[in-house]
Amino acid sequence: MQFSKLSTLYGRLEATASGNELRQILADFFKETYQKNPEELSILTQLSLGKISPDYISAVLGVAEKLVLKAIAKASGRSVKEITKHMHHLGDAGLVAELVLKQKAFTLVPTGDLTTDELYQTLHKIKDIEGSGSQDIKEKILISIFQKTTGQDSKYLARIILGNMRLGVADMTVLDALSICFTGDKSNKPRLERAYNVCPDIAKIAKQLADKGIEHIDEIPVKVGRPIRVMLAQRVASLSNMSEKIKSNLFQVEAKYDGERVQVHKERDGTITLYSRRMENITDQLPDLVEYLKKEIHVMAVEYILEGEIMALSEDAKIHQSFQTLMQRKRKTEIEKYIKKVPVALYVFDLLYLNGESMMNKPLIERGESIDKILYKKNRIRRIELIQTESVDEVQSFFEKMLKDGNEGVIVKSTADDSHYKAGARDWNWIKWKKDYMQNLVDSFDLVVIGAFYGKGKRTGAYGSLLCATYNHKTDTFESVSKLGTGLTDKTLEELPFILREHKVVKKPARVIINKEMTPDVWFEPFLVVEVIAAEISQGKMHCAARTPGSDRGLALRFPRFIQIRADKGPEDATSSEELLSLYEGI
Ligand code: AMP
Repeated sequence: MQFSKLSTLYGRLEATASGNELRQILADFFKETYQKNPEELSILTQLSLGKISPDYISAVLGVAEKLVLKAIAKASGRSVKEITKHMHHLGDAGLVAELVLKQKAFTLVPTGDLTTDELYQTLHKIKDIEGSGSQDIKEKILISIFQKTTGQDSKYLARIILGNMRLGVADMTVLDALSICFTGDKSNKPRLERAYNVCPDIAKIAKQLADKGIEHIDEIPVKVGRPIRVMLAQRVASLSNMSEKIKSNLFQVEAKYDGERVQVHKERDGTITLYSRRMENITDQLPDLVEYLKKEIHVMAVEYILEGEIMALSEDAKIHQSFQTLMQRKRKTEIEKYIKKVPVALYVFDLLYLNGESMMNKPLIERGESIDKILYKKNRIRRIELIQTESVDEVQSFFEKMLKDGNEGVIVKSTADDSHYKAGARDWNWIKWKKDYMQNLVDSFDLVVIGAFYGKGKRTGAYGSLLCATYNHKTDTFESVSKLGTGLTDKTLEELPFILREHKVVKKPARVIINKEMTPDVWFEPFLVVEVIAAEISQGKMHCAARTPGSDRGLALRFPRFIQIRADKGPEDATSSEELLSLYEGI
């Protein structure tokens, strides 16, 4: 396919303000592509997101904005000085490329003949170039592809290279569109999502649909090395509700430590990869943990996927430290120094795959027995603390003990025959019970920042408050739920514009739902997740969470207080509108 065709798609996606239109535009594009050339669908599905790889592969091209501007200058026959001036003015390398490559001063190669296949291969090639002289080689390649584009195509090319497409499209939107394309409507999205939960690679899902059809979509197997979307816990309004929800008589009650969740993949060749809860590859941040895994998991586990919570320890490796201390390990430099300063341990709580066999459909107890067999030394790779009991009173006393030890709470898990690991699901087989829930109606929520209001008085020049949303899983939208101003420290207020700068957009993203009266001064694409506590859920006209079709009343969180930024959570991992509704209804 000609790249200009894909760039027309980007233009249409960027222009629309409606989530449904977004899905329809994508579905039509996929249909046309599939009918003309089914082989191309897979790559084009990936590229429709403006990215060359699924998120779990950090396909950083290693190309700085400066290099892209230099390449644009050379491709257009302008001076770097002129291009820099345009950049000052327009603030976006894409707009600069569009401007100067519209009418070229001279061209070496005829324009407009870049194909999507060439683009895809070339960008992957750039990604793999390393070592001395790599910048020069990258520059030459960039010039040659820019020379093959003009106008709008050049704009999107620059944005893909720099990774800032901001089309408002995410994997969930593409799954909706694939469902419409292959089955006529969105009703098969849950089925596609189940496949995506074990294979979060949109191109592979599209390929399976194109090659084998929807009937075979569940056959994509677990692959060690490719992350699985994590299973999450539900929450209840009181502990007695928990026993109604969990189907088994016997509960497994596990400590809920406040660390970072990790999914460990060990392949047959010995490669160990660590994925965060957002499925980012975090192996390079934790080389010490990789070594502990090699030493402390039995050699008979030649291939495995396990999950646990990473905890920061005191320098003598004895006492648990806070989540904030652990966050000091999220770094690209001084890794060795911080290995000593902030030692870590991994508390294993699940096993998803072992030696060629998926464990996900085995009951919890069986998975636990396998964990105990492969945990060898238990020095830094430890089993999470747990009890098994039939008594709610014992659950309560274990919970109290956990709080006394400084933990966040417990996760109560079903041990019934169907206590499977349900990838990507927030399931009633796991129920969390946290300290916050005890404090008179105060509850904690993870909200997505969708906009900001400028500050007044002391906060002039900074953002004074943030517009926050919950994620509606069913409709794949972000619904405004609260205006957050309280609890933001001076330091956070200073940092926020920097953290959010890259995510600013000029208009409301198509998947964001708000009430007009809540229109913020600045819009952001859904990216940043913040933890807040709030004392009350109310229903009214100001906000839109869990609003039923036809009604103008949505749920709102009142008296919210900012607690912290949750860099470990992605926008789709935020508190869901469905979860908020069940809390409101007291379920
Ligand atoms: P929340 O972030 O409040 O939804 O709680 C879910 C998180 O609790 C998971 O993503 C894990 O990081 C963490 N967690 C801590 N201990 C456990 C455990 N024993 N089982 C499952 N998740 C746990």
